[in-house]
Amino acid sequence: MTTTPTTAYCYHCGKHHPIEEMRQLATKTGKRWRCIKSIEATKQGRTERDAFGKRVTANNKSESQSKARITLNVAGQ
Ligand SMILES: [Zn+2]
Repeated sequence: MTTTPTTAYCYHCGKHHPIEEMRQLATKTGKRWRCIKSIEATKQGRTERDAFGKRVTANNKSESQSKARITLNVAGQ
């Protein structure tokens, strides 16, 4: 009697999940299994992360602008 594997190693979580909850993906290193849960979580998190990234970029920009202004003032004296 052969037992078919019902779980596969999830490269995202680093552990095994039931195959029914997973999807096989083609990556650079070959075919790998990843759970649907983590795929969906990444999809949902992306929009949030994009918004966060934009916020940080805007903060950095205004900060460097105020720094540049201070430098100019010092140089003018
Ligand atoms: Zn997983």
